[in-house]
Amino acid sequence: MASEANNERAATTRQFDPRSKKEFLDYLRSLERNYDLDAIGRAYDTAAEMHKDQKRKSGEPYIIHPVETAKILAELGMDDKTIIAGLLHDVVEDTSYTEKDLKENFGDEIALLVDGVTKLGSLVFETKEEAQAENMRKMFLAMSKDIRVLIIKLADRLHNMRTIDYMPPEKIKEKSTETLDIYAPLADRLGMFQMKFELEDIALKHLKPEFYANLAKQINERKEQREENIRQIIEQLKVQLDTLGIHYEVYGRSKHFYSIYRKMRDKHKQLDEIFDLLAIRVLVDTVKDCYAVLGIVHTMWKPVPGRFKDYIAMPKSNMYQSLHTTVFGNNGQPFEIQIRTYEMHKIAEYGIAAHWKYKEGIKSDPEEVKMAWLRQTLEWNKEVGDSKEFMETLKVDLFSNQVFVFTPAGKVIELPAGSTPIDFAYKIHSNVGNQCIGAKVNGKMVTLDHMLENGNIVEIITSPNSKGPNVDWLKIAKSRNARNKIRQWLKKENKNENVEKGKSALDKYVRRKRYDPAQMLRPQRLNKVSKELKFQSVDDMYSSIGYGGTMLSRVLDLLLKSYEDEKEAESKSRKEIKNFESKTAAKKVQYSGGVKVKGMENLLTRLAKCCNPVPGDDIIGFVTKGRGVTVHRADCPNMTSLPEEEKDRFIEVEWGDIEGSPHTFETDISVLAEDRKGMFADLSKICEDMDVHITGVNGRSNNDNTAGITLTIQITNVNQIKRLMSRFRALRGVIEVKRGNANYN
Ligand code: MN
Repeated sequence: MASEANNERAATTRQFDPRSKKEFLDYLRSLERNYDLDAIGRAYDTAAEMHKDQKRKSGEPYIIHPVETAKILAELGMDDKTIIAGLLHDVVEDTSYTEKDLKENFGDEIALLVDGVTKLGSLVFETKEEAQAENMRKMFLAMSKDIRVLIIKLADRLHNMRTIDYMPPEKIKEKSTETLDIYAPLADRLGMFQMKFELEDIALKHLKPEFYANLAKQINERKEQREENIRQIIEQLKVQLDTLGIHYEVYGRSKHFYSIYRKMRDKHKQLDEIFDLLAIRVLVDTVKDCYAVLGIVHTMWKPVPGRFKDYIAMPKSNMYQSLHTTVFGNNGQPFEIQIRTYEMHKIAEYGIAAHWKYKEGIKSDPEEVKMAWLRQTLEWNKEVGDSKEFMETLKVDLFSNQVFVFTPAGKVIELPAGSTPIDFAYKIHSNVGNQCIGAKVNGKMVTLDHMLENGNIVEIITSPNSKGPNVDWLKIAKSRNARNKIRQWLKKENKNENVEKGKSALDKYVRRKRYDPAQMLRPQRLNKVSKELKFQSVDDMYSSIGYGGTMLSRVLDLLLKSYEDEKEAESKSRKEIKNFESKTAAKKVQYSGGVKVKGMENLLTRLAKCCNPVPGDDIIGFVTKGRGVTVHRADCPNMTSLPEEEKDRFIEVEWGDIEGSPHTFETDISVLAEDRKGMFADLSKICEDMDVHITGVNGRSNNDNTAGITLTIQITNVNQIKRLMSRFRALRGVIEVKRGNANYN
């Protein structure tokens, strides 16, 4: 029941001459995957034609490279779109073929994939530190809007690494470092271990040639012995596994060099001390079988304590699942066994690419694959802590909330998506931000609100004579960091200007919200509110409004609250006074008539209807025929316009003692105001506030968008009228307030 090797791999790694289109198509046909061989053939022809005058460094025809890249993609099980894009991945960059040609001949999807690969190819790395490398990797993910772009790029890199010997030595070193820093970790992140191991081993061979040669020599020296050991172990294991009656494969597996190197370097170990130089792998059909095999292994050999790892119950963040255990072998020499299902193995080898594997005639939707991948990761995320990091990185790709750009020196800068040169400048240094007067993106001048894109090279132009940031920058800047720094600067450098700006902004805002500035912006009120907002002074508050540090709505809220508190306190004290007055009124002499005529007692007086005098007004008496004395206001037009001969009928009068009198006088007040909604309600609200009773209303809208309102009210003295009128005048939209009926309507 046991079979010897990984059949799938054996089938896909068939050799053929990449210069022959027929052999390439035959190879693809042999995979029995329903590939669109017609389209793939056309892509082959296009690539061959476009690259026909190019040679590789080895002197071979260039077409070998795209075909080998496409072959790697086929081995990974990728769909035909990816294979076509693999064949064409260098045509736009290296030949006269354009993106438009691609679109016309192969469609938008292929054009998009090739364009993605071209863009990744145009990135230049200067990987010096780990953080920088991590940013580079993130940028790669962010730029590969379709994960297939990244997979094509990895395949491209793998073939270039396989054939790197023809490059000049510095180039080899550079590419190998880049492979270790950027590409291998990306393959790891996507769970593509086979790709990762090969990339790492080739890079190691070139970066540490002596170590590599030495290791190869040591491993070879003991190879026979070790292989003999493994053969024996496998034989023993098979005998036991057969008793389970399950289908399985068992084979020896050599550890890849780079992981040996890392173990020796990081854990300071000698080659002898590394347990899993040669390990055994068992593949079975089900998870249940995995644990059954593990049980057998642990009864046959004694496990090394602390070396058992259950990645089936707790998968790794990149979807890796397997059981690992190390046991003491026959001669006491420890060795490692890995047990997993075929499905887990496929994912371990191909990672995210495994999701593109053809199912009978069904083509996978790349978006669906990405989501399936994400869903699985999310499910695991509940249990697995370290998949969080992977999630974050994948999010960069899925939600694109970050943008990665370069400084002219090649350093990668990470910014929130939608960032502008201003964000970039402040990320570099606050002085660069404050002195920024312009910016170049990829060598071209841009405006400061230009939106940065992944991979842009951004250069900030500064001047010591710069006027510095202004409030508009706050709208342009996307990052919190830049905005904070702009505010800081505006606060410090620009105080006077900001105070003025803040002042007028608040005034405008109050008016726009239909409140009365005279009322809302009273100095005591502003003082109180600025203290509540923890400012040293009202100017500080204005300044903060001016540079955008304090929200206008917040200030107005507090102003309104203060106003309402004040009104409430006022009405409370008025009620108290009234209570007091009504209690004391009973003790006073009853009011009789209200007006005293000089020199005469108990003369009949009445108040003129034309001008409605109230106590406190300057008044004059007019002796009428048979009706006693009519009392007018001294400025009553009816009186001042009397002919001279009538004026001897005037008689001096004065107000009597009306203190505490419950007597009320009726009078008119006329208001000319903007014809706005709620105007009358506002007027009557004020009357209500002041306990003034309205007995009549006359109002009319005029053609010029004004309205005249005449209120007949009952009041007790002239001061009350004066207060009432001044509050009317303070109302938003009020144009004029007059005593009496002003005939506004
Ligand atoms: Mn290439």
